[in-house]
Amino acid sequence: MTAIADGPGGLSQPLETSESPEDGHYDADVIVVGAGPSGSAAAYWMATAGLDVLLLEKTSFPREKVCGDGLTPRGTRALIDMGIDVSEEAGWLHNKGLRVIGGGMRLELDWPELASFPAYGLVRPRADLDHLLVRQAVKAGARLHEQTSVTAPILDKQGRVTGVLAKGGPGADRAESSYRAPIVLACDGVSGRFALALGLQRNDKRPMGVAVRRYYTSPRTDDDYLESWLELWDGPPGADDAKLLPGYGWIFGMGDGSVNVGLGVLNSSAGFQKTNYRTLLTTWLDSTPPEWGLREQNALCPTQGAGLPMGFNRTPHYRDGVLLVGDSGGSVNPFNGEGIPYAMESGKFAAEAVVRALARPPGPAREKALASYPAAMAAEWGAYYRLGGVFVKLIGNPAVMRACTRHGLPHPGLMRFVLKLLANLTDPRDGDVSDRIITALTRVTPPLR
Ligand SMILES: Cc1cc2nc3c(=O)[nH]c(=O)nc-3n(C[C@H](O)[C@H](O)[C@H](O)COP(=O)(O)OP(=O)(O)OC[C@H]3O[C@@H](n4cnc5c(N)ncnc54)[C@H](O)[C@@H]3O)c2cc1C
Repeated sequence: MTAIADGPGGLSQPLETSESPEDGHYDADVIVVGAGPSGSAAAYWMATAGLDVLLLEKTSFPREKVCGDGLTPRGTRALIDMGIDVSEEAGWLHNKGLRVIGGGMRLELDWPELASFPAYGLVRPRADLDHLLVRQAVKAGARLHEQTSVTAPILDKQGRVTGVLAKGGPGADRAESSYRAPIVLACDGVSGRFALALGLQRNDKRPMGVAVRRYYTSPRTDDDYLESWLELWDGPPGADDAKLLPGYGWIFGMGDGSVNVGLGVLNSSAGFQKTNYRTLLTTWLDSTPPEWGLREQNALCPTQGAGLPMGFNRTPHYRDGVLLVGDSGGSVNPFNGEGIPYAMESGKFAAEAVVRALARPPGPAREKALASYPAAMAAEWGAYYRLGGVFVKLIGNPAVMRACTRHGLPHPGLMRFVLKLLANLTDPRDGDVSDRIITALTRVTPPLR
C-alpha cells in the first residue's frame, strides 16, 4: 500500500480506502502516534485498563528532546500517578520552588503546600524521562514499535480515520505498512503533522511561543530552586530602542555537573520570529556572573529550539476517530510555557474517553464517549487558558511587562499568588484565599474549546 502525494507539513495526504473497518482486521484496539509524554501516558492508562495499545514512535529510546527538563509539582504529580519512583535515590533532582529574578530583585518562592499536589518539583533530562515513561507504558502492556514513522492517516469512505500508514519498524523491509484500529491518538508533538494531514490547522489567534536551550558545565548544577529571569531585552538593556520581551529565561541545575539554560518568548511581541533567539540567549548569559560559567567554552552542545503550542491552539481535540493529545492539541500552559504535565494529563483524559468508548458499539453511543475528551479538556483548562490568552496579549506590551516586573516583585505576598496562578497550582475545594480567587476567576470565564 502506498500513500499519495505529500500533504501539508510533510505527512502524506490521507489514504482513502474502501475496506470496511468492520472487517475484523484491526491490528489493535487503539493506535498512538508518538511516544513523548502525551503518547506514553495515554498508552500507559489505556493498557492499564486492558486495551490492546499499539504505540508507534519514529525514533528509538533513549533519545533527546529539546526541553528545559524542569517539572513543577504538577509534573511530579503526573509521574507519581503513573507509578514512577521520583525519589532522589532513583536519580531525580528535587526542587523546593521558583527563584524569580527581575527589576533588581531576587525572590525565592516555595511551591505551595496543597492537598492536590506535592510541594516539590523535579529536574531530569528528557532522554531519561521519556525513556522511563515509555517503559512504564510497555510494562503496563502497550506494544511499542520504535523506528516507525507514521506517514499518513487511513480513512474509510465516510472520512473516519481507521488506521495509519507507517515506514520502518518490524518488517522494515517493506516500503510502508498499514496498521488498523478504530481509534487513533495523535501524540506527535508541536509539528501536529497528523492533525495537519486531516486539515486541522493551528489557530494563529491563540498563543504560541518559541524556546531555545543549551547545556553548560556550571557550579550551579545542584541548585534546589528552578530559576527564572523575567527581563529579556531585545537590544542592549537600557538603550532607547531596547524592548522588554514577553517571556523569561531559565537556569535549571541538572545535578550532574551541568545546567540547562534557555529562554522562551511569546508570539504577542512585535519582534516575534524576527528575533535571533540564539543571540538573545548568549547576550543574556554574558550578563550573568562569570563564575557561573555560562560562557561559550563551557557549552556542552549547540543551542537548539522548538515551538511551544499553547492555549489550545489546535482544535477540535476530537474528530472522526482521532484525538489530539499534548502539544499536538496545543496543550502547553500559556502562563508559564510548561508542557510536560499537560501532555501527560491530556493523555490520561484521552485514555479515559477511549476506554469508555470501546466498551460501546461503534456508532452514536461510542461517539458520545469520545466527545467526552474535548469536554474534559475544556472543563479542566478551557477557562484558565482563555485567561492565559489575555495574559499573553497584555505582557506583549513592553510597558505592561515592565510594570509587572517592577511593581510585582517587591511584594512577596502578591508574588506567591502569581506563582499559584502562573503554575496552575491550586486546591479548588479546600484552598486558601488565593486559591479561591483563582477558582472564582476560572468559574466566571467561558472555557475555550
Ligand atoms: C526549548 C523548550 C523547553 C521546554 N521546557 C519545558 C520544561 O522545562 N518543562 C515542561 O513541562 N515543558 C517544557 N517544554 C514543553 C515540552 O517539551 C512539551 O510540551 C512536551 O514535550 C509535549 O509532549 P508531547 O508528548 O505532546 O510531544 P513530544 O514530547 O514532542 O513527543 C512527540 C513524539 O512523537 C514522535 N513523533 C513525531 N512524529 C511522528 C511520526 N510521524 N510517527 C511516529 N512518531 C512521531 C516524536 O519522535 C516524539 O517522540 C519545553 C519546550 C521547548 C521547545
